[in-house]
This record gives sequence, structure tokens and C-alpha cells, in this order.
Amino acid sequence: HHEIKTRKGKVLHERYRNICTLGKGNFGKVFLAEDMSTGDQVAIKVVDKRLFKNNDQKQHAQREQSICEEFATDLMHKNIVQIFEVVADEECIYVVMEYVQGGELFERIKQDQKLAEPLARRWFREIIEAVCYIHENGIVHRDLKPENVLIDRKQKVRLCDFGFGKRIREGQEVLSTYCGSPFYAAPEMVTATPYKGPPVDMWSCGVILYAMLTGTLPFQGDDMPQLFRKISHGIYVMPRFISSDAAHLINRLLCKNAKDRITAAACLDHPWFKSSNSSSSSSA
Ligand code: ADP
Ligand code: MG
Repeated sequence: HHEIKTRKGKVLHERYRNICTLGKGNFGKVFLAEDMSTGDQVAIKVVDKRLFKNNDQKQHAQREQSICEEFATDLMHKNIVQIFEVVADEECIYVVMEYVQGGELFERIKQDQKLAEPLARRWFREIIEAVCYIHENGIVHRDLKPENVLIDRKQKVRLCDFGFGKRIREGQEVLSTYCGSPFYAAPEMVTATPYKGPPVDMWSCGVILYAMLTGTLPFQGDDMPQLFRKISHGIYVMPRFISSDAAHLINRLLCKNAKDRITAAACLDHPWFKSSNSSSSSSA
């Protein structure tokens, strides 16, 4: 056991006591822990750097650490998980953050099969507000999906997981790395076309909105090549029970051409967010 000092000078494992595992990903594990001096509960994501084989993966870990550090010091948004501090040693990165109690949006969709339009509208607006904030701050998430959208005790959205996040300088950088879940990946990503960044998040948001309203995914396939072919053609079926405003927004998000895709800021002005709770859900 080596000592990992937190910013407050305390040794991490002397300050926090593990309670249970909250989630597991490819390279990390998230634990529920208790601050032994205050009794406060926190979530701690531990990313094991020893599991990273190639330079690409090592770079992702480095980026996750630096984006989380920014969130611990400068960045903050009501719909993004609050990060308290980030500490790292040779082997692991530890991200200490607020514990979000309500679970994943993924589970909510599964439970209810699909979400009622008023609830979907409220949560989706919060997702877009969070995405708008990170884009305004020059960060792309690249792994937006319902597993990375948490719901807190007050039933508000908390976006998490900057494992594929990247800082981009306006208009400069062209990205080419494939990231995230294939079902949520944008056409420019699956066709390995160099991309600018933010529009890939908007595509994923389109898939999330579709999933919230229908309980299914717009793009599916028997295998990866088939799935990627469908995504690259941008062809999907819009169920008739979706209100016309919501269908219009999904169409603006799932635009094959990244240049035509709606931005997060423009999205917030979309009529679907202005239609009242009763008016559009009555179209079902
Ligand atoms: P990975 O990069 O492995 O996907 P995530 O950061 O997405 O790691 O965390 C994995 C899972 O752990 C999440 O999908 C969620 O279920 C849970 N989790 C992550 N952060 C928190 C948190 N702050 N509070 C509660 N649960 C969390
Ligand atoms: Mg995740």
C-alpha cells in the first residue's frame, strides 16, 4: 500500500472507506465511499492505467484526468457530476465526485420501456444544457449514451464519464479517433472521416432522444458492418407515435452530414422544448 495524498493533504485511503461498487467500465471502476471524518458519501472512479496497452488508450486516460481536474477547479454545471478532486499515482487515477443516487438514465428507460414525452423533454433539455456547456468550453464528450447520464435524488440529470473527452481548439483540430458505443456513434466516426468534434455529440444526443421516446435504438444491426452501414446512410424509422415537434428535433440531430446537424445552442431554441407538456403528448 502506497500513499496517495489528496489535495487537502490527506492520504486517500485513510480519508475514504469503500462501501460498494457502483459501476464498472472497460478501464475503471466506480466505488461508493464514505469520507470517514464527515460521514459524507462520495463516488470514486478508479482508472487503472496499467490496463492501457497502447498510446491511444494512455492518451485517453491522460485526457480524462485533465478534464476532470478542470471540473474540479474551474468548470461547473448543474447538470454535470460535480468533481471534488482528482489524484493520481503511477498506477491509477482517482476521481472523487459527488455520489448521484438515482442511477443511470439507461435503467429508467428500461424500467418504463420508454419515457413519457414530458419527462423526456425535461431530461433531454438538461442533457443538452450540459452538452452546450462543455462545447462552449471547448470540450467534446464523445461517449454520450444513457449509461453516462445519471439521475440525481431531485430527478435532475447529471452527465458523467469524460473517459473519451477531448479538449479542442475552435476550428483547428481535426479528430479521427473512433470512440464510445457503436450504437451512438456518428456517421463521420464510423466511416473514419476526419471530424471537428461537437457534432458527434449531437448525433449521440439524437440517439439518446430516440431511445428515451421509443425504448429502442434507431440504428441496429446483426453485426458491426451492418450497423455501421445503416449509421453511415443515416436511415432509420421514425415511429408514428412520436409528436411532430420531437420527430423534427430527432431529424435535426440525426443528420448524416455533420455540417447540417443542429448545434447544442440552437437545439435549446427548438420548438419541441417550447411545446407545453400536454399539447405534444396528446398527439400519441
Ligand atoms: P466508464 O468509463 O468505465 O464507463 P463511468 O464514469 O461511466 O466509467 O462510470 C461507470 C458507471 O458507474 C456509470 O455508468 C454509473 O452507473 C456509475 N457512476 C459513475 N459515476 C457515478 C457517480 N458520481 N455517482 C453514482 N454512480 C456513478
Ligand atoms: Mg461510462
